[in-house]
This record gives sequence, structure tokens and C-alpha cells, in this order.
Amino acid sequence: MRVLVAEDDAVSRKILEASLRRWGHEVIAVDNGDDAWRILSGDDPPRIAVIDWMMPGLDGPEVCEQLQMREGQPFTFVLILTAKDNTDDIVSALISGADDYLTKPYHPQELRSRLGAGIRLVNLTLELEEANAKLYEAAHTDFLTKIPNRNAILSRLADQLSRSKRSQTPFVVAISDIDHFKSFNDEHGHQTGDDVLIQVAQRLVRVKREYDAVGRYGGEEFLLVLDDVDEASITPVAERFRLGVGGKPIESDGRLLPVTISIGALWVPPESTASVEMLLHQADELLYRAKSEGRNRCCVEQFVPDESAPRVQNG
Ligand SMILES: [Mg+2]
Repeated sequence: MRVLVAEDDAVSRKILEASLRRWGHEVIAVDNGDDAWRILSGDDPPRIAVIDWMMPGLDGPEVCEQLQMREGQPFTFVLILTAKDNTDDIVSALISGADDYLTKPYHPQELRSRLGAGIRLVNLTLELEEANAKLYEAAHTDFLTKIPNRNAILSRLADQLSRSKRSQTPFVVAISDIDHFKSFNDEHGHQTGDDVLIQVAQRLVRVKREYDAVGRYGGEEFLLVLDDVDEASITPVAERFRLGVGGKPIESDGRLLPVTISIGALWVPPESTASVEMLLHQADELLYRAKSEGRNRCCVEQFVPDESAPRVQNG
């Protein structure tokens, strides 16, 4: 494990470094508190630190206080070394955020075993961080298609809406639906239906640009959030998705199945006063129209802000 050593006394620092290396650690050594803080607050910091109380720059407890004030940063186990051994000093070091302390002169084996406890704590924290990352991933990913799920894509849409207002860039929200999806399940079974969903999702993802988002909205519906699309490009952009999915048949269990999608695409100008609900409602109406006009097509419109303005009619 990488260990930061901050100790201004050169002899003590060398002894400490030598012990830590002997115990198998990689050591980063500094002689003042400012450098200690710079390293601990930088990218990929050591997760264990042995810090002297009295040193130039920030002292040990001050380094601990700074560490406590960071938010969303990985846990670092800090052991403070001090010549001070009265209870008040020890309590104040622990209050500053130190995880443990050792009074000088200390026995090397005592330091070793206290660091051992720190390493166990760091390892548990690392496991927890990894588990949390996996949970986050699972909570935001559609189980079948492995693309963002409904919650994830809706929160992406909300982000896009506020970002577009801030940066004054238009965007497109589109709902696409697999045409006659039920027939794949009815005629070929649910495995085929699942194959179709997975491959349609993959094709949509292949068409999207890096900064666009595609998620599973529900059943056989996918929500597309397409950043920075000018008004003249809505139809070509929507058509690219339609043809990207329906351009060639999907293979499932040795059969070639013609699969098409309908798309309702809503262009949202930057000055719009839209809410997420209004956008979804209008995009859904456009999808409905694409369906009623014969499917395998795109219906595109500009967002209509005024409830009293003429609306797209359901077909
Ligand atoms: Mg000192």
C-alpha cells in the first residue's frame, strides 16, 4: 500500500521510511504539512498517512481538518505522531479528524500494528466504494438491453433541459417505438422478442453521437436525448435513427426478421419554457401520429410552449 509520511525531522523521517519499506509499503515522504495536504488532496492520493503533529506549514491536526472538509473524496486513514501525550492534546488531534495517534518515542511494532488496523479499514472502504459503484450502475441500467433505464434517461433529459437553457443550445427529445413488437413475441416467442429489443437498443446506440443519450423508456419504447441539434437537422437526424434500426433485418435464432421503428421527435429551442412532462407529452403525441400514419416513419415538430396553441392531433 502507498503510505504518505510527513515529518520535518530528517532522522525520524528516514527511520520511518525505512520501517515502512521493510513492511512492504511504497512510501511518499515530505517534510512539511503543505506538501502533505497537496499530495492528499491530489489525484489518486495514498490512502494511509503518517503525519507528524508539529511541522512547518499546516500542522498535523490542520491537515486532518482540511481532509475532513473535502466532500466526495476517498477515505484516507491518518495516524498522527506526536510528542504530546496529555489527554487534551490527544482528544484535540482526534477531533481534528485523525483516525489514530501514537506518542513519540514509539515502538516500531506498535506503529506496524496500528497501521495494520488502518489498512483493514481502508480495504473495507475500498470494497464498499466498489460495491456502491456496482449498485449505482445496476440502479441506472436496463437489465435486458444494458443501456440506461427509464430513471436514468429521464434524469438525463432533466439535465439536458437545464443545460440547454443555460448554454442556449437547442436539443431534440425523441421517443421511438418498435413497430408491431407484440407480433415478434406472439409468432416467435419471448426469446425472439428479447433479441429484438437488445439489437434495436444496440443499433440506436451505434447511431447516436458521443454526447447523445439513448435509454429504455419502457416496454419496446426508447427515449433519445440528442444534444445541440439545429432546427434544419431534426428530420435527417431522426431518419438516421430510423434507418439505422430498420435498414437491415435483425437476426434471431437463425431467422432474419424485418424490424422497423416509428419515431416522434420534438425539437426544443433554447428559449423554451418546457418542463420534462410537457416534452414527453408532446414527443409521445408525435410518436402516436407516426404510428397512425402507417409506422416506420418519423414525425418531427418544434415544441409548442403555449397550451392554447394548435397541437399535434392524435391520428
Ligand atoms: Mg515535527
